[in-house]
Amino acid sequence: MALLELDRVWVSYGPVPALRDVSLSLEEGETLAVVGPNGAGKTTLTLAIAGALPAAAGTVRLDQRPIDGLRTEDVALMGIALVPEGRRIFDGLTVHENLLLGMSRRLGDRAARSKALAEIHAMFPILAERRNGLATRLSGGEQQQLAIARALLSRPRLLILDEPSLGLAPLLVDRVYDVLRELRATGLSILLVEQNPVRIGFVADRVMVLSGGAVRLEGRAADLLGDARLENAYLSGE
Ligand code: ATP
Repeated sequence: MALLELDRVWVSYGPVPALRDVSLSLEEGETLAVVGPNGAGKTTLTLAIAGALPAAAGTVRLDQRPIDGLRTEDVALMGIALVPEGRRIFDGLTVHENLLLGMSRRLGDRAARSKALAEIHAMFPILAERRNGLATRLSGGEQQQLAIARALLSRPRLLILDEPSLGLAPLLVDRVYDVLRELRATGLSILLVEQNPVRIGFVADRVMVLSGGAVRLEGRAADLLGDARLENAYLSGE
């Protein structure tokens, strides 16, 4: 059964549509990569799902319940966590304080919260090492890990990542992708936005190409990666 469904969604900034009749579905436990050139509408898509932008038409459903029109806090409580482009860690706070801000009430009592934190530290050892340091002193790749860790502490059912490799050196991109593979192996559902399709083959089950605000192609990653259809679709809305 689909965890997330978009049914003919339109989103506009003023008179200009940024998403045109976009439909997609994401199954429980699946990783869907959304790729497309600059200005394709990828960030708009993540914001529309997270409740940060209203849909002018169409429906967004989580577990078959419409969630468009809900506030971002309510969408988060329903289990969607967004790691936005640019990471948005909190300035002036330590690594640990940043993590505490991500903790959901859904985590439960103190023991459950410590357990969740211990799991995060096991997955991201650098965050344990630097827990009392200022988050802004972390490198770009470490900040990306912090942003992902914070999102995970909300115990999401669906993790949305907007260009997690943006601006990172190749080795750090590898580390971020290792983390995504680990998360996928735990059964977490993931929607991964990337401008460049090169690395997504390592994590994605399915790929969707967005260009000019519309879905140009969609299919199994194993079928599409390295296929000329992917490149053609990528360029089609330019
Ligand atoms: P990038 O890879 O550059 O982040 P993207 O695929 O995420 O691109 P969006 O940021 O969703 O694309 O932008 C889609 C379109 O909407 C673009 O034409 C962009 O100029 C326009 N747009 C985005 N944000 C706004 C805004 N706040 N006001 C007006 N137009 C916007």
